[in-house]
Amino acid sequence: MALSVNQPGSTVPVRDLAKLRAVSRQAVQEYLDLKDRFASSDPKQRPSGSEYDRLRERLKQLPHEYAAALPTYTLSRCPFCDTPLNGSFDPWGFDGFWWVPSMRGGVGKPIGCEHFRVLRGAVWLQDKPPIAGPYEAMLGPDVPYVIPRLMQMPTMTMVVHSIVMESGYVAMPLAYFSKDIPAPGSLIQGWIETTYSFLDANGRHAWSVRNDPWDFNLAPWISSGQLRWTVPNNPDAVLAPHTIAPLPFGNPNPVALPQTAENNSLGLSGLPDNDTVEPFE
Ligand SMILES: [Zn+2]
Repeated sequence: MALSVNQPGSTVPVRDLAKLRAVSRQAVQEYLDLKDRFASSDPKQRPSGSEYDRLRERLKQLPHEYAAALPTYTLSRCPFCDTPLNGSFDPWGFDGFWWVPSMRGGVGKPIGCEHFRVLRGAVWLQDKPPIAGPYEAMLGPDVPYVIPRLMQMPTMTMVVHSIVMESGYVAMPLAYFSKDIPAPGSLIQGWIETTYSFLDANGRHAWSVRNDPWDFNLAPWISSGQLRWTVPNNPDAVLAPHTIAPLPFGNPNPVALPQTAENNSLGLSGLPDNDTVEPFE
């Protein structure tokens, strides 16, 4: 794979994707190998003594080493102030811990402007086989959607961006922005997250699991001006002018169900059913 060279005027950082891929996959592989050793039925394979402590530490460190090797992508752009939303992203496959809710400890939040609220997403595999490891990855559905409850919040706007991944899949970050600040705890967990962590009205850490219904019928949201998209095939996520035309990219034959991937196979689950889980209920 060649060195990634940016377009003139691009704000996307220059990066050597081949090298980053090698470092990130090395960290994933070492993690899986170590896990195998700890779980081995052969006592000679299982670490013991001082090696046990050393390898336990190594195990904790590896997801951070993996995350540090991820390239930064422009994931969206604010429709109010034009600031890019930048964040790490794994463009190679769902075997990367970026895609695995339980393994994202080292992955930082995307960084954007004061209007950024939450990042959701979709992935269209374009009929390519899913590259996935032994941990369940969450992909989102194969086509963009909106969460009407969020869209009903004052000034809320969703921006659809598209990233052609190195593996040929098309990832579609769905980023929510608003001028008005939503009430504490009223948003939702992110794209690859299973729980929603937030600060409550008293500034205390709290969490819940939101299962707000999705809406795949984008036309009314495009008409209302609340759904925007970026110019296709642009890594800078430059916003397309607002029109009421249909979304210019996406999957022509969607299944429109949440996708998971594990051990190189794809799974489908049911749509969110509006059953919000709060702790201590
Ligand atoms: Zn902004």
